[in-house]
Amino acid sequence: MTAPPDRSPPSIPSLADDAAALPAWHIDAAALRTALDAGPARGWTVEVVEETGSTNADLTQACRSAGWVEGEDSARVRVAYRQTAGRGRQGRPWQGQAGLTFSVAMPLALTPARLSGLSLAVGLALAEALEDVAPVLGPRVGLKWPNDLQIDGRKLAGILIESVPARPGALWAVIGIGLNLVRDARMEAALGRPLAGVAEALPGFNPAHLPTRILGAVLNRLAAMRAVFLAEGFAPMAARWSARDAFRDEPVRLLHDGTLLAEGLARGVDGDGHLLLETADGLQRIASGEVSLRGAAA
Ligand code: ATP
Repeated sequence: MTAPPDRSPPSIPSLADDAAALPAWHIDAAALRTALDAGPARGWTVEVVEETGSTNADLTQACRSAGWVEGEDSARVRVAYRQTAGRGRQGRPWQGQAGLTFSVAMPLALTPARLSGLSLAVGLALAEALEDVAPVLGPRVGLKWPNDLQIDGRKLAGILIESVPARPGALWAVIGIGLNLVRDARMEAALGRPLAGVAEALPGFNPAHLPTRILGAVLNRLAAMRAVFLAEGFAPMAARWSARDAFRDEPVRLLHDGTLLAEGLARGVDGDGHLLLETADGLQRIASGEVSLRGAAA
């Protein structure tokens, strides 16, 4: 018996799963300025470059040579359409071709010890900004402790924070963000892990306008977060973070270099950004450090 002819249409890579199908997009500088002028990031300086090694490395370097400039208006933003040496935590590589990659250098009159929870605050600001842009994204985007964004367990965005000491009691926080606009099948194959993209959760995703709107919303959210964080730290944000926790009340494992450190039920986070882990020995507070969280089934 011969198989019936295959009449299914040839598969065409869709925008939602192929970075190569993503039309060239650009940040609309005028629209971005309008968005920032209407919000708390109004004084922030933004530069956009075609290509660089790493926007975090660029700003870290710039902060070292610039010295300390007090005040929210001295925050600097660097966006790159292409990064040739993007990095995640612990030097892991970040592939940015399917998304928006940028860094923010913000001055914080804080000691390093007071930075506890900052990376969670940044993740929350990013998730809330996506919801500002499109309310439909709110319930789709979850937070994975300490600072990943994900959709249905697949990584949507990564965050890397580095700090540059400025003077006693003051530092620059250099915050790098990589946000996938599309879910890229080729990159998934190369990385060997499932990824997510904004487009898959957003009907009518428009690459001509959306990156600018997202960037404006994220910068305004980060500027608002900065003011709260300086005054009160992460504590006022802990309940909002826990409400978006993708693993809330689920069994999880904590790993360091592939070695199991602890396992239990994820019970949200405390006011310092520590993960609350309910274990057989009671509730443990886990500081982020170099710990990675995985679902118990992973
Ligand atoms: P952790 O759970 O400890 O945060 P992680 O593997 O997610 O672990 P990160 O440092 O947050 O580590 O991010 C770097 C990792 O992200 C890389 O090792 C790579 O697997 C993955 N990655 C790189 N580029 C992308 C991307 N565009 N989208 C999603 N994931 C990516």
